[in-house]
Amino acid sequence: MTDDPKQMRYERDPKGPIGEFFAPVAGYGVTFSSMFRPMVTEQYPFEAPHVQPRFHGRHNLNIYPDGLEKCIGCELCAWACPADAILVEAASNTPDAQFSPGERFGRVYQINYLRCIFCGFCIDACPTRALTMGNDFELAEYERISDIYDKDMLLAKLPEGALAAPHPMVEGTSDIDYYEGEITGPTQAQIDWVKQNRPDDPSLATARPVPARAEAPAKKEAN
Ligand code: SF4
Ligand code: SF4
Repeated sequence: MTDDPKQMRYERDPKGPIGEFFAPVAGYGVTFSSMFRPMVTEQYPFEAPHVQPRFHGRHNLNIYPDGLEKCIGCELCAWACPADAILVEAASNTPDAQFSPGERFGRVYQINYLRCIFCGFCIDACPTRALTMGNDFELAEYERISDIYDKDMLLAKLPEGALAAPHPMVEGTSDIDYYEGEITGPTQAQIDWVKQNRPDDPSLATARPVPARAEAPAKKEAN
């Protein structure tokens, strides 16, 4: 206790006899009042937690609406990665095996999630928006080798009505048309090509043809 008025401003008033009596259990007041507040405990994994739409989780290798892969094997994502987590090996498309628009596709694509720091530099570097990051964060595995995701694991789901690659590009188009979003689905010619070369391909059952580019304006005029 001090008589200095300046120091006294920072001292609590002395407790009365009732305050002194309840002092040892005063902390329980906080516990008791919390019992009536809404619960904030996350019920994960029984209930999925809410993540923000722009949360950077597991990567996806995206696919055009006709089924060709967006990755052109340029390796820019691998060069941009500060953790050296990405491995890309490109190969040339051929008339018999066209996996992406243009000359090359990503034959080998791996991301090592033991190295990835989810910075997003790789998706910024990708020129075709082939690589994006979704909201999935459940990447824990029991073995280290399982944390290396290869192309099959990273490839996005085939878009509705699309035809699984490989198959030729939409007739009369260039890779630029693909980059500019001109492709809306597989054409009948692409479906016929797959029927001829891979008659057992399961995506044939769900492929929905769209008018080829040359037919589309004619249809517009008719309307
Ligand atoms: S998110 Fe970052 S660390 Fe992970 S693969 Fe992409 S660039 Fe590399
Ligand atoms: S994901 Fe994008 S940046 Fe990486 S190799 Fe494929 S096209 Fe290039």
